[in-house]
Amino acid sequence: MSKETLKANLREIPDFPIPGILFYDVTTLFKNAECLQEMLDTLYEMYKDKGITKVVGIESRGFIMGGALAARLGAGFVMARKPGKLPAEVVEETYAKEYGTDTIQIHKDAINENDVVLLHDDLLATGGTMAATHRLVQRCGAKKIFINFIIELGGLNGRKAFPENITVDTLLTL
Ligand code: AMP
Repeated sequence: MSKETLKANLREIPDFPIPGILFYDVTTLFKNAECLQEMLDTLYEMYKDKGITKVVGIESRGFIMGGALAARLGAGFVMARKPGKLPAEVVEETYAKEYGTDTIQIHKDAINENDVVLLHDDLLATGGTMAATHRLVQRCGAKKIFINFIIELGGLNGRKAFPENITVDTLLTL
């Protein structure tokens, strides 16, 4: 899909959630039926021949396209969530944030050594959240891992957070 369509449908909110942050609001990409369909078609074309067996979506905006794409690919969908949300036994990774730490979890039985996994989130900033999710899925023994975001904030060099041999694809760099 064209970068212009994505740009035209993305809403920017200055000073959210705190002063100084320019927040890229993907709800406006999701609410536009044509834009949603185009994003899904584009992602499907990118990954349809990769043998993906599971898509992992990161809480919570990564659940939307992640879930839709999993269904389209004929793959399973796995939720990567903040602590206290998943009901069964979990595995987790803790990562450093600007202030303090954060933790991401998946169910222990969600991924196995036969899985080819696509990790998906809406936006790549520092890459900390996705790098932790990548470590987690790697620990589960996944055969191969791909990483995808809708939007990448190029100035933050978030790609440096991932191992060099991992394929990281994004639809729009800002
Ligand atoms: P990071 O771990 O720094 O790559 O942060 C990624 C997570 O924070 C993603 O789940 C994004 O949804 C969210 N995020 C970080 N910065 C922004 C921003 N400027 N606009 C919208 N979402 C953001």
